[in-house]
Amino acid sequence: MARFTLPRDIYHGKGCLEELKNLKGHKAILVVGGGSMKRQGFLDKAVNYLKEAGMEVELFEGVEPDPSVETVMKGAKAMQNFQPDWIVSMGGGSPIDAAKAMWAFYEYPQTTFEDLCIPFNFPNLRQKAKFCAIPSTSGTATEVTAFSVITNYQTGVKYPLADFNITPDVAIVDPDLVMGLPEKQVAYTGMDALTHAIEAYVSTLNCPFTDPLAIQAVEMTLDYLPASYNGNMQAREQMHYAQCLAGMAFSNALLGIVHSMAHKTGAAFSTGHIPHGCANAIYLPYVIRYNAKDSTAAKRYAEIARRTGLSGTSEKALINSLCEKIDEFNTKLNIPKTLKEFGINEDEFKEKISGIAERAVGDACTGSNPREINPAAMEKLLTCTYYGTEVDF
Ligand code: FE
Repeated sequence: MARFTLPRDIYHGKGCLEELKNLKGHKAILVVGGGSMKRQGFLDKAVNYLKEAGMEVELFEGVEPDPSVETVMKGAKAMQNFQPDWIVSMGGGSPIDAAKAMWAFYEYPQTTFEDLCIPFNFPNLRQKAKFCAIPSTSGTATEVTAFSVITNYQTGVKYPLADFNITPDVAIVDPDLVMGLPEKQVAYTGMDALTHAIEAYVSTLNCPFTDPLAIQAVEMTLDYLPASYNGNMQAREQMHYAQCLAGMAFSNALLGIVHSMAHKTGAAFSTGHIPHGCANAIYLPYVIRYNAKDSTAAKRYAEIARRTGLSGTSEKALINSLCEKIDEFNTKLNIPKTLKEFGINEDEFKEKISGIAERAVGDACTGSNPREINPAAMEKLLTCTYYGTEVDF
């Protein structure tokens, strides 16, 4: 038995933020981040639409990037005091992820973080409130996924929460909110979306329900990401939809070791954070070459290439075309090809690699990767991504 879960309603199109007017309820809490939605006027718009819906509105502002357990608890407390029947979260991944966790603690104040960290172990939500998510970036797709990442700063551990209970009820995918994204963010989040689609398509949990979403997302990303990066707003709009489709695929089919590697290297080096989408973009072609040694995965990668119109008459040639396309995109988007080029110090890399490799193998995303990997192979693979050497094992 497998399950496929999506939000009940996904509104899309320019100006669809307006749909907030049609939510049915009495009280809405609006969870937002640092202020970019406010500065651009979208926060006021959202508040006014909710008031037009006849709701009393309270704000919970200032959710930080990589939201903390403390912020989640603070938000849950605010919800317990206010008793909303709608939780509306607007912004990048962080406020939406935080609001998902607040929701669980609002409805079940006695639950513990440890309980929620067990995958697919959430209590039944929607006893008190429904959830609406409005993304202001084009990558994480948290508006349609069953995932949330919360950081415990005391231990430095990121908790990936996963449960279909936290798949939002309503997603509002309004491209107006992403028109002002900085160039770098367009590049990184776009490559994150491409990685979501490709990893979902080759995942061990792929299925006929997720495949069409993944393929469509790859196709649209190949068509629109460079133009979106160069400031074409029609392309930017299409990328906002493509990342959402990729999210629908990976929320149900899960991911693979590109994400395992990005999760465990993101904050590992003293030279600074490697942004999530940038790390994915660097690792993706190397991982394709590693996974393609598995015949089932090779067939799936070749299918992606064939179905999205890349050239090649043999499986090998098609996989090559896919890797070359990713390389070409990284060049166009000014993304480095190796960790060395990114600026990671060689001595530090050598010193830390065995620990990172071990943690990456233990990451939640490794389980659905199409080819098995152990810490020794992971260390070799990471080494290839550092020096740009061929993956021949
Ligand atoms: Fe991602």
